[in-house]
Amino acid sequence: MNEPLTMDQARRVLQRIYGYPDFREGQKQIIRDILDEYDTLGIMPTGGGKSICYQVPALLFPGTTIVVSPLISLMKDQVDALDGLGIPATYINSSLTGSETSRRLRAAAAGEYKLLYVAPERLETDMFATLAERLDIPFVAIDEAHCVSQWGHDFRTSYLAIAPFLRRMPHRPRLAAFTATATENVRTDIVRLLALQEPQVHVTGFDRSNLSFSVLKGVNRDDYVDQYVTKHADQAGIVYAATRKEVDQVHQQLKRRGIPAGKYHAGMTDDERKQMQERFLRDDIRVMVATNAFGMGIDKSNVRYVIHWSMPKNMEAYYQEAGRAGRDGEPGECVLLYQPQDILLQKFLIEQSVSSPERKQQEYRKMQQMIDYCITQNCLRSYILSYFGERPEEGAEAARCGNCGNCNDDSEVVDMTLESQQIMSCIRRMNERFGVTLVAQVLKGSSNKRVLEFRFDRLPTYGLMKQYPEKTIVDMIQLLIADGYIGLTESQYPVLRLLQPAADVLRGEKRVMRKVRLVKRQTRTGDELFDRLRALRKQLADRDGVPPYVVFADSALREMAEQLPETEEQLLLVKGVGQAKLAKYGAPFLDAVRAYAAESR
Ligand code: ADP
Ligand code: MG
Repeated sequence: MNEPLTMDQARRVLQRIYGYPDFREGQKQIIRDILDEYDTLGIMPTGGGKSICYQVPALLFPGTTIVVSPLISLMKDQVDALDGLGIPATYINSSLTGSETSRRLRAAAAGEYKLLYVAPERLETDMFATLAERLDIPFVAIDEAHCVSQWGHDFRTSYLAIAPFLRRMPHRPRLAAFTATATENVRTDIVRLLALQEPQVHVTGFDRSNLSFSVLKGVNRDDYVDQYVTKHADQAGIVYAATRKEVDQVHQQLKRRGIPAGKYHAGMTDDERKQMQERFLRDDIRVMVATNAFGMGIDKSNVRYVIHWSMPKNMEAYYQEAGRAGRDGEPGECVLLYQPQDILLQKFLIEQSVSSPERKQQEYRKMQQMIDYCITQNCLRSYILSYFGERPEEGAEAARCGNCGNCNDDSEVVDMTLESQQIMSCIRRMNERFGVTLVAQVLKGSSNKRVLEFRFDRLPTYGLMKQYPEKTIVDMIQLLIADGYIGLTESQYPVLRLLQPAADVLRGEKRVMRKVRLVKRQTRTGDELFDRLRALRKQLADRDGVPPYVVFADSALREMAEQLPETEEQLLLVKGVGQAKLAKYGAPFLDAVRAYAAESR
């Protein structure tokens, strides 16, 4: 019998190799159970730190741990990162030539790796079966385990091969499955289809306290994105849109304004996508406009903001995408731009893509929960945490996190009752038969052909709001839709209708207030040393052909810039600096810090 492994040993590995002082709360429980030889299911959000949950036990166990992972890019990222830490690891998937595969299998058979990443399809091959018989495999980790479930969003048939593979093994290893998807269906599928034995299930870490969340209703999205991206030009960010068409549109528009942006969606060739992704990872382009096709393989840790140009289909999708901000623990901003038309689009997408009535109903329910998030007045973080089954902390403050758009609402409130009345009465005089554009044109006093055709220039509301740009009038109408004063019919050409609360406004019994929010700059920048260290990082990363965050995370550079380490010992105290990183990159960074310190004395 081996001595049982302790958390102290695990913590020492974390400190020595990864350079982190301690595990996060959720990681502790999961690693504890894995070391105690339980099958484990870890449900943790994107960026929560799942990799360390299986990598640290893998380093403590004798033999080679197998990690099943669904994506080539994901495996490559992980192995690059492990290389950077000095941990012997490799991957086997379809991106390798036959001879390279054989070479790696031979090295694996000789026990040269602590971690072996494989694509699930590989488990079915004879070569791999032979290897598995010869190898000491104490532990198998299944990453992105929701891929085994048809209820999940990334179903892979090949994940169904995992359980038979494990059954064929002479000694069944310990198993741990990881995912960010928390729904009940997916959870039960994982346990059943991967044949986990009495697993310990942990749902943790859904709170990402470094991220701020906000939902903006009725803003002009194009203007907002332009302004935001321009103000944050030196930071990496992602703008998610719902369809390829939206992506092309937003991307075009940024380009027109001279902002270098990448784009990514399923309509592009593999090569184009790969190139875009690579440039983004290397900080060659700062902002990526993308559909949800972009992301699962992206472990880029210094993404500072994620803007949703429109409402995603459900909270799982939203949180996964938003969660790509701030993986390094530095502040990140997540903004969702909501417009009621988003609902029509999402309904359309559900109708198009889902056929089973049962499934459809579920999708509609989840969409409604997404809408609820967009319109709730309560703390957005509490909403997220309770959605994912994690109880927000007890106590009075718990209901308000202090770091979301609803808790921190410092926007200015402007009375727009008069404008609302003008808009509403115009809609009424046009007999509630026209859409947003035409109503705005009438209020603006436009002499557009359709306006004149319908003789709307004779209405008393014609030109009533001529002091405003037409775009501003459209924005105000959107806001009244979002706030439930005006409805949109669900037809191909949606028509504006007055809803019940509009009557109170028209009678002057209810005032309409509008929040005016300024694009704020929440994240810190501008620190000169930080910028220098970042440039140095880019240079070293390009030299070594790796993405910059593999050299050091933003958070590590930030700490260096604050603590000014001048010796190796001091540098080791910085989070994210372990022995291997110190050996590989310590000297140039220490030089840069010393030079800076000398100049500023
Ligand atoms: P996930 O797979 O859950 O999306 P990752 O495993 O990629 O997340 O981890 C996200 C980031 O968090 C990585 O940059 C990782 O190095 C960092 N991280 C993980 N655990 C810790 C920890 N205990 N202390 C500090 N940083 C951590
Ligand atoms: Mg991961």
